[in-house]
Amino acid sequence: MEQTFVILKPSAIQRSLCGDVLTRFQRKGLAIAGIKMMQLDEKILRVHYAHLVDRPFFPTLVKSMTRTPVIVMVLKGKDAVAVVRSMVGATNCRNAAPGTIRGDFGMSGQENIVHASDTPENAVIEINRFFSPEEVFDYSMPTTEATYAPDEID
Ligand code: UDP
Ligand code: MG
Repeated sequence: MEQTFVILKPSAIQRSLCGDVLTRFQRKGLAIAGIKMMQLDEKILRVHYAHLVDRPFFPTLVKSMTRTPVIVMVLKGKDAVAVVRSMVGATNCRNAAPGTIRGDFGMSGQENIVHASDTPENAVIEINRFFSPEEVFDYSMPTTEATYAPDEID
């Protein structure tokens, strides 16, 4: 089963949306393989958002992402990276489709509730960036036979 990496951003923490967002992932059938609260800093954000470091909004992005602690998590399921990205929706909440997390819960392009890995390769890199191996758990869910057909489980 594939793993993906998600951050509940300060916008989710301060607007008390963590439970609503996590409930969506759990109802979908994704399993929580790891979860913790942590305070981000500019150092880790310069790596995590390396593709944005030279953009004019980078300083406000750092301020936004360090405003409160965040909740980081590893979610597990078949095709978890693509499934979670589609649940999260377009980057700007005002453009995100209704039914997506950003489309239902946000109004901003920057204060957009969640981060989710965009490719399986980046998911592995991001999980290793934020979690040590012993913080990511491998356990079975009693719901597996009602969630997947036998040939969908690897
Ligand atoms: N962001 C922003 N302004 C922009 C583009 C991105 O503030 O014009 C922020 C926003 O919080 C976004 C994050 O930078 O979630 C990372 O940007 P990316 O393009 O990777 O979008 P995502 O993968 O989060 O949809
Ligand atoms: Mg991204």
